[in-house]
Amino acid sequence: MEHNFKKKYGQNFLKDNNILDKIANSVEISNDDLIIEIGPGSGALTEKLIKKSKKLICFEIDTDLKKYLEIYESMGAKIVYGDFLKQNVIEIINEYKYKNLYIIANLPYYITTPIIEKIINDKLLVDNCIFMVQKEVADRLKAKVGTKQYNSLTIFIDYYFEVNKLFDVNRNSFYPKPNVDSTIISLKKRKNYRVTLNNEKIFFKLIRDAFTYKRKTLRNNLKSYNLDIISKVLEKYNLDLNVRAENLNIEIFADISNSLS
Ligand code: SAM
Repeated sequence: MEHNFKKKYGQNFLKDNNILDKIANSVEISNDDLIIEIGPGSGALTEKLIKKSKKLICFEIDTDLKKYLEIYESMGAKIVYGDFLKQNVIEIINEYKYKNLYIIANLPYYITTPIIEKIINDKLLVDNCIFMVQKEVADRLKAKVGTKQYNSLTIFIDYYFEVNKLFDVNRNSFYPKPNVDSTIISLKKRKNYRVTLNNEKIFFKLIRDAFTYKRKTLRNNLKSYNLDIISKVLEKYNLDLNVRAENLNIEIFADISNSLS
């Protein structure tokens, strides 16, 4: 293929047909379902997805890839050229009637977190996201309390989604070959959220602030908060303000946040 691969867009295209099949088959999709693909590239995965459902919307930032993607447009897919992060996705998907919504992507790694945040903030009623992510990111998303990988993203995503690692993908499966290995994960929208919150905004701000400096205690990271209230909540769990955020589970954070709001 004649393409000038753009590193700045995270362009590492999958060349392993088995892996492409495994990704496309990792959720059951019927032709009533709507699929969003972020970053179709030259269409390796798109080719598999359109066989599952013609209700397929792809967002691709690089217009140089048009010549590879036109064929899927002629088969019924909608290709939107532009930055996924700037799209009014709700408006676009409202043009469709569908049963379930799936988002499937071999993600451009430089914007993994902003993409997941957009899906959450836009309140897309997605049933399942199947994402290729950097192996380290998958480890972070599945991290247990008290481990080095556990951070605010772990908790943020755990609130909305049940995270599962599906399988690893070796760097040799891509062209050009990236410097990292990858993992396919599934983010299944929870029917009931992990915890009940009085105010989601306060909860997410609290988590972000609590992890500002990983090695610092809550007392230091949460200086601007009402520490008396936080201290009282921690007491219930036999903890004090010298604890670090990485040692608090989502229930304790929810309890603190609800006491503050
Ligand atoms: N799906 C293809 C595959 O599996 O071979 C390509 C995957 S490649 C890792 C990531 C793709 O996302 C590239 O085609 C890149 O141009 C595209 N991309 C990067 N940033 C984007 C953005 N902000 N919005 C939409 N697409 C983007």
